[in-house]
Formats: sequence, C-alpha cells, structure tokens
Amino acid sequence: MSSKPYIYITRKLPEEIINNLCTFADVGMWEKEEEPVPREILLQETKKADALLTMLSDRIDEEIFQAGEKLKVIANLAVGYDNIDIELATKYGIAVCHTPDVLTDTTADLAFSLLLMVGRRLAESVELVKSGEWKSWSPLFMAGTDIHHKTIGIVGMGKIGEALAKRALGFDMNVLYHNRHRKMDVEKALGVHYRSFPDLVTESDYVVCLTPLTEETRGMFTKDVFRKMKKTAFFINVARGAVVIEEDLLLALREGEIAGAGLDVFEKEPIDPQHPFLKMKNVVALPHIGSASIETRTAMMKLCCRNIELILKNEKPISIVNEAVFLAK
Ligand code: NAP
Repeated sequence: MSSKPYIYITRKLPEEIINNLCTFADVGMWEKEEEPVPREILLQETKKADALLTMLSDRIDEEIFQAGEKLKVIANLAVGYDNIDIELATKYGIAVCHTPDVLTDTTADLAFSLLLMVGRRLAESVELVKSGEWKSWSPLFMAGTDIHHKTIGIVGMGKIGEALAKRALGFDMNVLYHNRHRKMDVEKALGVHYRSFPDLVTESDYVVCLTPLTEETRGMFTKDVFRKMKKTAFFINVARGAVVIEEDLLLALREGEIAGAGLDVFEKEPIDPQHPFLKMKNVVALPHIGSASIETRTAMMKLCCRNIELILKNEKPISIVNEAVFLAK
C-alpha cells in the first residue's frame, strides 16, 4: 500500500492543473466532465481519502465525514460553501477551504451583464433576430429600460458586491447596498449609500442579490419583498437559487409586480427545461456561470490544489472557512 496521501477529485480537471498534486500524493478523479460523481462512489473514495476536491453540486454531510476516517481537508471549487455542513466538518476536525477573491471580478462582470441583458432586452432581441421575426424598425421596437442614472440596490455588499458597485458607478448609477453590517469605509471610498432591506427594495430599479446562502438568507426574497419593488424594477440573482422563494418570484412576474428577472442560479440545478421561468420573455436564465471564465476557473482549480497541498503538508492554507480546525492543530 502507498504511504502517500490520497486525494479524490469529484469532477474531471485538466491534467496540467493536478500534475503538482501527483508529485506528493496519489490522485483519484471522477473522469466525467458533465456528470456529478454518484453518491456511492463519492462515499467509497472518501473512505480512502486524506483530501477531497469537491464541486458545489456535491452534498457534503455527516455521512461523508463518517466515511472519511483519514479525511483532513475538503477544498470546494467555489466561494460559496452552502453544500457543506461547516459546523459538522469543524466538529470532525476537517478543514474546509474555498475560492474567494480569484472569482470576484469575473462574477461581478456576469452580474452586470445580467443587468444589461434584462434592462435592454438583449436575450429577447437576439432570439428575435435569429427567428426571423425582425420585420422593421419602429420607435418603440424592443425598447427596454436604461441602466445609466438608474438606482441599483446590492443585497450582500461583500467582495463581489463591491466589484459590482464599481461597474455600476462607471455607468453613472446611483448605488444602494444592504448588509448586516454597514461599511463606512466603502461608503466613503465609493460614494455608495446604505439602506435597510425594505428601503433598498422599494427604491431600486435593479435589485441584485449577492449574499451567501445561509439559514438567514434562505428564502429572503418573498412575495412581500417583490410587492415592495417598483413595477418597473428588475430582480437579479447571482447568489444561490434558494435565497428566493421561486414560486413567489414567478407570481410577481406573472402579476406584473416587477418588470423582469435575470437569474444565474436556481433552487434546483440544472433547471427543468419545462420550468415556467424559461417560457417568460422577461426572464433571462443562465446556467450558473458567474465565475465561468477560463482564467478564473483555472485560478479556482489551482487555489483548491494549493490549499490541499498546504493542509496535507501541515502549512497554513490560503483560504479556509473554518480556521479553528487549522489553529487547533
Ligand atoms: P463575501 O465577500 O463574503 O460577501 C458576502 C456579503 O453578504 C457580505 O458583505 C455580508 O455582509 C453579506 N451578507 C451575509 N449575510 C447577509 C444577510 N443575512 N443579509 C444581508 N447581507 C448579508 O462573498 P462574495 O465573495 O462576495 O460572494 C458572495 C456570494 O456570491 C457567495 O457566497 C456565493 O453564494 C455567490 N457566488 C455566486 C457565483 C455564481 O456563479 N453565480 C459565483 C461566486 C459567488 P454582512 O456580514 O455584513 O451581512
């Protein structure tokens, strides 16, 4: 039996990314790019593993922690870690690492793209031209809503929220934000304004959610929230699907409580192709691609590998969620 540590990767990653791990560890990998690893295989591999490199589609719960007798670290290929029970991981002494910072600008670019797409009806326009429906020019043909000089309300003004605010300021937007903690330094540096959650949703033309998914944020966008929004306003979600009660959003869209929605994330992913959201002209749906640029995904994969290497070599990782586990060693 090998004396090297064993690392299991739950989705196919490029060889050049994992080469370095192979110099000091045995590496196993689920070889399919499109399909998540079946639960039984993940459990089997976890039994042998010192480290797991996981995706946000892998549910990491007590069954995994119990199977992983040697497990020291889980490196999740995402900044969000709502797929992992952090409290239990900490109890089991397993370090959980994630990929903050490296995806900030790319995700902010995507969030701002969604604003442009819904406001200026870009997806609808592309479809219309492709389907041969473009018959003439007329004064209000495909007329959307301006972005510049409108008010954007960012719920969850963290790293990505701040990067989004900078993009919005470049478009001369008025920027409001809501967090649990006010950020006076950011207000001063960027000229953005704090609002309570109800005031933010009432005043904004574009409400963008960028919070993590936690017990507090789960289902925070309800029919009452959508009712408070302007009828001309758009809702954008680049956080996680479950921050919204999707039925309530559907109702708000159907009843004209809001003008439209731009969604990168859904409660159930991939979304059912028959989902009513996909039949609505005023909904732009993307397949959870917030951080999906080649440069950023490469940086995220490298960061996961580096965090695993550091933990297995008893060195301080770059980005750990439950630092107490590392400090306790
Ligand atoms: P971050 O720097 O930790 O920022 C999160 C912000 O949310 C913080 O400013 C936090 O401020 C705020 N927040 C937390 N709980 C809140 C609550 N109950 N009410 C209001 N605000 C709350 O994280 P980030 O790097 O910007 O990433 C944010 C999230 O974006 C991730 O957790 C992930 O779910 C999502 N994301 C999605 C994609 C995608 O592909 N669509 C890509 C990257 C990230 P306070 O603590 O002061 O409340």
